[in-house]
Amino acid sequence: METKKGKLFVISGSSGVGKGTLLKQLVQKNPELEVSISATTRSPRPAEVDGVNYFFITKEEFLKEVENGEFLEWAEFNGNYYGTKQAWVERNLNKGRNLILEIETNGALQIKKKLPDSVLIFILPPSLEELEHRLRGRNTEDEETIQGRLHEVRREIECSKNYDYTVVNDDLDKALLELERIIKSIIR
Ligand code: 5GP
Repeated sequence: METKKGKLFVISGSSGVGKGTLLKQLVQKNPELEVSISATTRSPRPAEVDGVNYFFITKEEFLKEVENGEFLEWAEFNGNYYGTKQAWVERNLNKGRNLILEIETNGALQIKKKLPDSVLIFILPPSLEELEHRLRGRNTEDEETIQGRLHEVRREIECSKNYDYTVVNDDLDKALLELERIIKSIIR
């Protein structure tokens, strides 16, 4: 019997909406989900380990791999390159594994074009009003920072319209349940 192909889930969302914690809990609770390890040209942060968090490579190595067609998608973000290895994704999907890619929006849209069956999920912060209320309540950010953050969220809301699903991370437990509900409804 032929193995059923796995599903590819692509998750995006700004930092500061608890996306990291959400994904960590998602895979802890659902160890059958495999998380892709991206290649990047940025330097490792203190607790990061090569081959665990990312494959840390040089710009030259990255561009060589781009030239060799090794990436399913890649993008520049904050002056660094990030990319997902095509061979890893194909091999695991063919084995029937369900995969999670945590990547930014340009890469996500490249994947949707190449693999229309992939499922794009955007993690949004609470509503603009709620966010503004929280930022002002903290009394730590100046007006320019608040306006900048709100502008960024408006841009994200716009971008999330290209995604198949959005999950609002207002309450971590609720957001986790919602994310699991979406994924399970697709892989069942
Ligand atoms: P960080 O440097 O904070 O780990 O990640 C910065 C951004 O790059 C995040 O939005 C993250 O989702 C995104 N990212 C991580 N890996 C990849 C990748 O392989 N491809 C793309 N397009 N974005 C990625």
